[in-house]
Amino acid sequence: MTEGHAVVLGAGIAGLLAARVLSEHYARVTIFERDSVESEEVRRGVPQARHLHGLLDRGRTIIEQLYPGFTSEMAERGATTAEALVGTRWYVGGLRVAPTSTGLTSVIATRPLLESVLRQRTLAAPGVQLCEGAAQGLIGDAQRVRAVSVSGAHGAYTQATDLVVDATGRGSRAPAWLTAIGAQAPAEDRLEVDLGYASRFFRRTPGQLGDQSSVIISTGPNGRGGGAIRVEGDRWHVTLAGMLGDHPPVDSVGFEAFAATISALDIHEIVTTSEPLGEVVPHRFRSPVRRRFERLDEVPQGFLVLGDALCSFNPLYAQGMAVAAQQALALHDCLVAGDTADLSGRFYSAVGKVVDVAWQLAAGADLSHAGVVGPRTARTRVTNAYVARVHRAAHVDPVVARTFLRVANLVEPPAALLRPRLARRILLRGMGAGGFDSGGFDSGSAAATTGVGGQPATEIGQATTDVGGQPAADVGGQPATSVGAQPSADRTPLPIEPTR
Ligand SMILES: Cc1cc2nc3c(=O)[nH]c(=O)nc-3n(C[C@H](O)[C@H](O)[C@H](O)COP(=O)(O)OP(=O)(O)OC[C@H]3O[C@@H](n4cnc5c(N)ncnc54)[C@H](O)[C@@H]3O)c2cc1C
Repeated sequence: MTEGHAVVLGAGIAGLLAARVLSEHYARVTIFERDSVESEEVRRGVPQARHLHGLLDRGRTIIEQLYPGFTSEMAERGATTAEALVGTRWYVGGLRVAPTSTGLTSVIATRPLLESVLRQRTLAAPGVQLCEGAAQGLIGDAQRVRAVSVSGAHGAYTQATDLVVDATGRGSRAPAWLTAIGAQAPAEDRLEVDLGYASRFFRRTPGQLGDQSSVIISTGPNGRGGGAIRVEGDRWHVTLAGMLGDHPPVDSVGFEAFAATISALDIHEIVTTSEPLGEVVPHRFRSPVRRRFERLDEVPQGFLVLGDALCSFNPLYAQGMAVAAQQALALHDCLVAGDTADLSGRFYSAVGKVVDVAWQLAAGADLSHAGVVGPRTARTRVTNAYVARVHRAAHVDPVVARTFLRVANLVEPPAALLRPRLARRILLRGMGAGGFDSGGFDSGSAAATTGVGGQPATEIGQATTDVGGQPAADVGGQPATSVGAQPSADRTPLPIEPTR
C-alpha cells in the first residue's frame, strides 16, 4: 500500500527508523518532533546523547538493510569501525574476553552523528517530512485512534491520520493518552537499578589503548564499570557508571579516582593521560521499564508504540537502539504480511517476542547484583550461575568468546550458549577460579545475562543444535588455549594487533 498518511511522534532513533519503514507503505509520513533538529548538538529531548552510545551488530545490520551503505557513510563522516573483540577490548568479570574473530562490526561514533546520518537518510525517503511540534494527546476511542493533537509554533491543532506511531522515548505519555480516550493502559514491568553515568570527552593521541578503538569494562561486584570509545574528531568519549546510587563524581579528581576503582585500568590510563575536552556530564537512570502492550485484551487500531516508549532498557547493555531497529523491522514485516486490519495486535505480538529476548538478557544481569530490586526466581539463579561460567570460559576459550559476543549483540539467540558442544566447553573451562561474577557494562555482559528463557539447559541445547555452532578450529584460527587466562591482577593489554 502506498496511500494514506502515517504520523510518527519523535525523531529519535526509533522514530526515524519507523518513518523509514512507513515510507514504503504510506504515501505521506509526517514526523513531529518537539525539539528543533537543525544543529548537530545534543538536543534537550535526548539528554542521553551526551553519553556513550554503542550500536549492537544486530542493530547495525538492520539499519544497513534499511539504509544501504550506512556503515561506510558513518566511516566517511568520522566514525571508527572495528571487528568486535579484535579492534576493541572487552573485560567481563575483571578479565579480558579472549580476542578472537566474531564476524561482528562495531560502528563507533557519538549519538548525534548517528542520529544525524539516520535523519538525513530518512528525510530523503519519498513522502517523509519533519515538522516541529509537540504531541499532546490522541483523538479517537478504545477501538481506533483517528488523529493526534499537536502544539507547534502557531498554536495547537489536530492532525488527522491513518496511523500514529509513538516514538517519544522513555517519557512517553501513551498510557495517560490511552486512558484519556477510554482505552486500556498497559501494565509495566520495572527494576530498580539507580544507575549513574558520568561522561567526558578527551583528546586522543596515537598509540593509546594499543591503537584499538574502544574498551568496555563490565560492572563488577562493586557495581562500577565504564567504557571509552574512539569517536569522530579523534576523541575519546569516556563514560563511567555506577549502580545502586553509587554514582561517579563530576569533578575531575573524583572522576579519575572513580576510574581507578573499576576492574581494569585501561580507562583510568586514558583519563589520566589525555587532555580533557569540556566538562564531565552526569545522567541518572533509575529503572528499566517495559510496557506490556502485548498483554492487553484490546488495543486501539491506528496507534503503535515503539522504542524506549515501549521498553526502556538499562543502558549498560547498549540494547536500546538495536531493539528499536528490531521493532522497526517487525513493523515492516507486519505491514508486508497483510492489510492494516488488526495491525496493532499483530505488531504488539511480534515486538513482544523481540523485546522478551533483550529484556531477559538485561534483567538477568541486573538481578545478578544483590541490591537490585526485582523478582528473582530459582531460574534466575541457575541462569546467572551458568552465565558466570560463560564469563570465565570466555576469557580462555575463543569459541565461547565468539558466541558470547554474538549473543550479546543479539545476532544469535541466548540458547546458542547452551548448544551441547559449547555447553561442554563452558562447563569445563568455566570451572576455574579467576575473575568474578559480574553484572555488566554495555553488551559484554548483556550476553552474560542470557536470560535463557528459563528452560533447562539440555532442552534448549537440543532444540538449538542446528543453529550453526562452529567447531573450535574454525574460529579465529587460534587454538582454544592460545589466549591464556590472565590472572585478575594482570591488567596489561594482550598483544593483539588492531584492525585499523
Ligand atoms: C544514559 C543512556 C545511555 C544509553 N546508551 C545506549 C547505548 O550505548 N546503546 C544503545 O543502543 N542505546 C543506549 N541508550 C538507549 C537509547 O538512547 C534509546 O534506546 C534509543 O535512542 C531509542 O530511543 P527512542 O528513539 O525510542 O527515544 P529517544 O531517543 O529518547 O527519542 C525520543 C524523541 O521524541 C521526542 N519527543 C518526546 N516527547 C515528544 C512529544 N510529546 N512530541 C514530539 N516529540 C517528542 C524527543 O525530543 C526525542 O527526540 C542509552 C540510554 C541512556 C538513558
